[in-house]
Amino acid sequence: MSDCIFCRIVRGEIPCRKIYEDDELFAFHDIHPAAPVHFLLIPRLHLPSLQESNDSHAALLGKMLLMAPRLAREQGLDQGFRTVINTGKGGGQEVFHLHMHVIGGGRIPPMVQRD
Ligand code: AMP
Ligand code: ZN
Repeated sequence: MSDCIFCRIVRGEIPCRKIYEDDELFAFHDIHPAAPVHFLLIPRLHLPSLQESNDSHAALLGKMLLMAPRLAREQGLDQGFRTVINTGKGGGQEVFHLHMHVIGGGRIPPMVQRD
C-alpha cells in the first residue's frame, strides 16, 4: 500500500518519533497523544485492520501483544498501561493499517463509567 500513511512511516518517507523496530514490528509516538505516554505499535505488513486478519497472522498478532508490555516498560509505564485496537469505521478506526495504541502515565479513566 504505497499511499498508506503508516506504510510511509515504516519506509521513512514520513518522519516519526520511533521507539522500536525489528523485522516485523515498528513503534512510534502518536502525533496527538491522549496521555503522557501514547505510542502506536504496528506490523510492517500492511494489514488494514483486525477484520482482515486470519490464521496466517497468528504469530504476528501474538508478537505484537507480547511486545506491548516490553515497550511500555521501556517508556516508563511500570504501573501498567492501556492497549486499544480500533477496528473498522464502527470501531472509530481512522488509519487503516492495523495498530495497537499503548497509553498510560496519566489518569486512565475506566472504560465503562458507572454511577
Ligand atoms: P485510530 O483512530 O485508531 O485509527 O488512530 C489513528 C492514530 O494515528 C491517531 O491517534 C492519530 O493521532 C495517529 N496518527 C495519525 N497520523 C500520525 C502520524 N503521522 N504520526 C503519528 N501518529 C499519527
Ligand atoms: Zn499500511
